[in-house]
Amino acid sequence: MLYNCISKFNTVIILEVIVGRTVIDVKDARKTYVMGQEKIRAVDGVTFTIEEGEFCCILGTSGSGKSTLLNLLAGIEKLSGGDIIINGSSIRKMSEKKLSKFRQENLGFVFQAYNLLGSMTALENVELPLVFKRISPGKRKRMARSILKKVGLGGRMDHKPKEMSGGQQQRVGIARAFVARPKIVFADEPTGNLDSKTTIEVMQLIKGMALKNKLTIVMVTHDISLSKYADKIIHVSDGKITEIEYNENPLGGLKPAEPQPIDATHGEETVQQADSKQDKGFAQPTGLKVNKDTVRKPT
Ligand code: ADP
Ligand code: MG
Repeated sequence: MLYNCISKFNTVIILEVIVGRTVIDVKDARKTYVMGQEKIRAVDGVTFTIEEGEFCCILGTSGSGKSTLLNLLAGIEKLSGGDIIINGSSIRKMSEKKLSKFRQENLGFVFQAYNLLGSMTALENVELPLVFKRISPGKRKRMARSILKKVGLGGRMDHKPKEMSGGQQQRVGIARAFVARPKIVFADEPTGNLDSKTTIEVMQLIKGMALKNKLTIVMVTHDISLSKYADKIIHVSDGKITEIEYNENPLGGLKPAEPQPIDATHGEETVQQADSKQDKGFAQPTGLKVNKDTVRKPT
């Protein structure tokens, strides 16, 4: 009723303040693999949005198309149909060169098998995204050391992956994903290789990092207990969405306006500048909590 009384332009502004900006807009996305005579519809026409600062979980059994969908969102796999708009840009229309630059500048990744480079130390692994961003050697060492301390690995910086436990390796993976302050972090079964105690530690770490920095997280899992950390749960089966569920009280649920247990900022003057610059791209916490499926940004 109220919305009917104001212009569409004003409505867009009001809704953006309440629910946050849409950072990922998936429109009828499809991915079909052709294997001889057989067509595998790994992602079969999915439509949803992910809002800024949201922790979104894609939940489904093995083979349901979760990883393919995540890879489409990250521009790693090419769409067979539909479109995905990230931060206003259609990844379908981006050239390979632009996509790879976009990934370096905006995205972080956490993998089930950690994907650390075995010949490099923890510190060197965490420095890598900063090398791609052409940050000077001195500054990137400071940033990498700082975030490794934050993930509890201050004493393991010169260790190589094989000299660390799975949980420690995943902490390095998380430090690497967050060190360059990406806008969105994608995590594919990030605790899939970990025991239950370490799983909780790693989930708390990811959640804390995300809240502190108001980052958008897209996590894929087959484990329903992990989906309880998410604000939004997208259930997938046979490449299709079966349900979108909203969680008003997610686990690890410190709200952005409250004090945070984990600080992924780097506590240095140079990095503080980067913080303030990057903060402009983030929605400010509004303190308002609404059921996001009831409010959709008009198009
Ligand atoms: P999930 O991550 O949920 O386990 P995937 O996205 O890996 O599922 O796979 C979804 C479906 O697509 C599966 O049937 C899988 O065998 C198939 N698939 C995935 N990647 C490929 C590929 N590169 N070539 C052919 N089929 C694939
Ligand atoms: Mg998978």
